[in-house]
Formats: sequence, C-alpha cells, structure tokens
Amino acid sequence: MPPTTPRLDLHLHTTHSDGSCSVRDVMTRAQRALVVALAITDHDTVTGIPEALTIGQELGIDVLPGIEISSRHHEREVHILGYCFDWRQPALLGRLQTLRASRHDRNPQIIEKLRSLGMDISYEEVRELAGTESVGRPHIARVLMQRGYVASAKEAFDRFLANGKAAYVPRTLPDPATAVGWILEAGGVPVLAHPTWIRDSQQGLAQLCRQLKDEGLKGVEVHYSTHRPSETAEYLQLARSLDLLATGGSDFHGVTKPDIDVGIGRGDLTVPAALLEPLKKAAARAS
Ligand code: AMP
Ligand code: ZN
Ligand code: FE
Ligand code: FE
Repeated sequence: MPPTTPRLDLHLHTTHSDGSCSVRDVMTRAQRALVVALAITDHDTVTGIPEALTIGQELGIDVLPGIEISSRHHEREVHILGYCFDWRQPALLGRLQTLRASRHDRNPQIIEKLRSLGMDISYEEVRELAGTESVGRPHIARVLMQRGYVASAKEAFDRFLANGKAAYVPRTLPDPATAVGWILEAGGVPVLAHPTWIRDSQQGLAQLCRQLKDEGLKGVEVHYSTHRPSETAEYLQLARSLDLLATGGSDFHGVTKPDIDVGIGRGDLTVPAALLEPLKKAAARAS
C-alpha cells in the first residue's frame, strides 16, 4: 500500500557517499512515498546537493541542504546532521576534505585486516565500486557481498566491520561539539542523529543533549526507521523538555539496509510534514 500522508525524509544517503542509489533514484522513490520535503545527508560531502536542488524543482519536492558528520564521544560514535547551511562555505569544505582523507587512511587498514583473515579484496576495487571520495565501511561490505564472503551487509558488520570486530579500525573523528560548531559556523541547523545509538541510559542521552545544546545543538532526530513507538515518544518528550526541534528521516542506504525505504523506513515511519516549518524558522535565525 503506497502512503497517503504527506511526509518528510530528512536523512538519506546516495552514491555521493555510502548509499547505493543515485540522487535521482532516491528522489523518485521519495516522490512515490509522498515526501514533500527532503534532505540528502551524505557522509562528509556536499557534492549531491546541487543535483538534489535541481531535481527537487523538477519533481516539486522541497530540498534542504543536508549532511551527516560522524563524531566521537567517549569511545562512542555520535552522528550530527546539519541542515540549511551554506554548502559552499570554504571553511566547511576544507573540514569535509580532511574527514574524507581520514577515510583513505583508515580503509586500507581495514582491507589489510580482512586480507589477513583470508579475504582476497583490494582497496582499489572498493574505491571503484564507491565511485566517490566519501568511502565508507558499507562500500567494503558490498565488495564482501559481491565476492560471496558474506550474504549481507549486516553479516559483514556483525562479523568484521562493526566496532570491536576483527577488522575494525577506528577513524580520527572530531568530538560532537566540534561538529555542531562547524554546522553553526556555516549558518546551519545541527541535529543529533539516531539517538538510539547513544541511549545507554535515558540520563546519559539527556545529559549529552543538554551539553550539546549549550554548544548550539538545535534538534534531535525523534522519528527514525528503527525506533519503536515507545522510543519515538521518549525522544519527542526529550526534545520538548529541552526545547529542541524534532526532526526525522529514514537513513535510507539502499542495498546495505535492504529493509529500509525512502519516506517509509520499514513501512511504519511517518515524519510529520508539520516539522518542516519550525526547522525552516530555526534555519532563518541561524543564517
Ligand atoms: P563509516 O562511515 O565507514 O564509519 O561507516 C559507518 C556507516 O556504516 C554508518 O553510517 C551506517 O550507514 C553503516 N552501518 C553501520 N552499521 C551497519 C550495519 N550493521 N549494517 C549496515 N550498515 C551499517
Ligand atoms: Zn552511511
Ligand atoms: Fe548515522
Ligand atoms: Fe545516516
């Protein structure tokens, strides 16, 4: 059943980073899912934004400039989404270039570990499959799938690529406050992505949100593909209590997360269209 409620999707990946679908493919899926406004939030790159803006005009979809930046807080990855920033700002472009370069330091080390475990793959073929400078573990997972070493990206992460597994290699990452600062300096709206990742305890998450709010954090990704209704309610309450915006998105990646589709997540995701105006107002104040 196609959706009948207009909605947002503010968390999407394309071939500009580790998604497997082009910007046009993602946006065609968005149109079918009744997505009225979206943000392409590729990791560490803005190269998909101009294309998305053009296709948005063609399809009648409101496109917000977006990005996702990985950071580290006490050995844990915290992802910061940025919206409506100046995606041509030289300072930001330099920072993103450094983040992409750190991927090229790390990835060959992951490949070496996989090779020592008996898997015959090279970074050259991973880069060729990626076809972008923002090369991530999902690209490595896809090569492992193509070679038959694993049946799914989930298996690749569970056995080799996830934090603590045999081929895991940490990457140099900024701390969350720094990533928040980069988005602010570019005139944008920083939002904490997928809070379930850091919800070791309700207090721990609330504390991080309060701390990042002091640094300029403006929102929390309340609606997300994998959230149970009780989690969505909890994060909405958290956002309200801290006077932070609620946002949401699917985190669509294509083949490495085959159960998640644009606009609908696992089928039960609806990011309310009413969340757009508060986000745009915050963006107008930020710029
Ligand atoms: P990287 O940017 O190279 O550190 O890779 C991290 C990305 O891998 C995340 O942003 C997710 O998109 C993806 N990822 C993490 N865990 C999994 C998993 N279990 N299955 C599929 N993709 C994953
Ligand atoms: Zn990703
Ligand atoms: Fe993320
Ligand atoms: Fe993401």
